[in-house]
Amino acid sequence: MIRRTKIVATLGPASRDPKVLDRMIEAGVDVVRLNFSHGSAEEHIQAAELVRSLAKTRGRAVGVLVDLQGPKIRIGRFKDGKVTLLEGERFILDADCELGDATCVGLDYPDLVRDVSRGATLLLDDGRIELWVEEVEGNQVICKVVRGGVLSNNKGINRKGGGLSAAALTDKDIEDIKIAAQLKADYLAVSFPRSAADMQQAREILHAAGGHAWLIAKIERAEAIDALPEILNASDAIMVARGDLGVEVGDAAVPALQKKMIRLARERNKLAITATQMMESMIASPIPTRAEVSDVANAVLDGTDAVMLSAETAIGKYPIEAVSAMHRVCIEAEKEVERPPFPLRAAEEGIVRIDEAIAKSAAFTALHLNVKAIAAMTQSGATALWTSRISTHVPIYALTPEVETRRKVTLFRGVYPINFRPSSNDRDQLLTEAEEELRRRGAVRNGDLILLTIGEPIGKPGGTNTLKIVRVGERKKV
Ligand code: PGA
Ligand code: MN
Repeated sequence: MIRRTKIVATLGPASRDPKVLDRMIEAGVDVVRLNFSHGSAEEHIQAAELVRSLAKTRGRAVGVLVDLQGPKIRIGRFKDGKVTLLEGERFILDADCELGDATCVGLDYPDLVRDVSRGATLLLDDGRIELWVEEVEGNQVICKVVRGGVLSNNKGINRKGGGLSAAALTDKDIEDIKIAAQLKADYLAVSFPRSAADMQQAREILHAAGGHAWLIAKIERAEAIDALPEILNASDAIMVARGDLGVEVGDAAVPALQKKMIRLARERNKLAITATQMMESMIASPIPTRAEVSDVANAVLDGTDAVMLSAETAIGKYPIEAVSAMHRVCIEAEKEVERPPFPLRAAEEGIVRIDEAIAKSAAFTALHLNVKAIAAMTQSGATALWTSRISTHVPIYALTPEVETRRKVTLFRGVYPINFRPSSNDRDQLLTEAEEELRRRGAVRNGDLILLTIGEPIGKPGGTNTLKIVRVGERKKV
């Protein structure tokens, strides 16, 4: 059975062994995420090479996603590595504090004193510790502990409600974008963007470095929610980054935001990844909880392009099992959305471009004729993207000689890359070969209906202008 929702898995110590990674790819990983919060440039370059060589051996395309660290604000270190904060006690955040203790700790962000004032709530260590700002004095943010606990070195700080104004791209991020270009990343994720301008800046740096990655905006700040339409316009995809987002807006707000974000992304012909804690208990357990199964299934029902594994595959004990669990949960959930209706919005909003007209017509036709497959002869993947924003029940095969395009479509829901090098530029010959390729792969059989989209002249990106409906094995008679 073919799975439509894609699986992104984060690489880490638990999955860097080629044998483990190979089995994860076998179990269904479509895109590997390289987390630039950890590891050296050299390690990441080697990891990307490993992913591609394993994928090649399996005759598969696997995408590589570089995830920038971003301006995550962190506390400094403690004399004893950690302290225990007690409710009601006073605790000071101070950039000048060198080694922390139970009364104060350092910061890697001296501007915190300008961004907060009395009454602000600060959340440390993904929200486990809560501080209330009593006053700001000089370089010191003087807080009262609302929810205590053990606090260890370098934990992250978020402000409830958002509003910490650290620039989205740090000096390290700018250097890392160049590494992403060098290792030919297929996707580049920007952490903590606040606005469309943050995404544009990343794109400029990437292009200047010769990179062609598609840009993912990680939605994990309160401000990014308000700016979502503009951020979507400036990006190719979003990540519902539930870890940091939940800390900023409150965990209870996340499920509804997830649905809204996925819907908006699809409506604007963009991609969506749902991330963080999806199979969290599998860090230590070989099977997921019912709640986790339900969470992954619900993301599928929300229409996400991909579901993501983080610590589960980076540092967990069961990286292969986590991928397998996601695979089977996605397949089962997808049975619920077997024949989606043609979205009214897509019918009403009209059509601007010719290739868009072909993509939408293909999606509409596929919903009404008993079609087995859509085959998009594509250079850039644009036709496959548009078609996949509507149709979710008919598999869309992106047939392309471009390796970069095959790697990009690994993230598109319901789209499957096929390396396709026709022997000639003659249209009829090419379509016959495409049909033959699908039959050879067992995607279609004689008598099945398929939709073929193609651009003429052949090979021009963005030039799709033809939709052909073919009954397999009867092409000569059509
Ligand atoms: P991270 O981003 O894993 O890089 O923190 C995802 C999230 O915050 O959910
Ligand atoms: Mn995050």
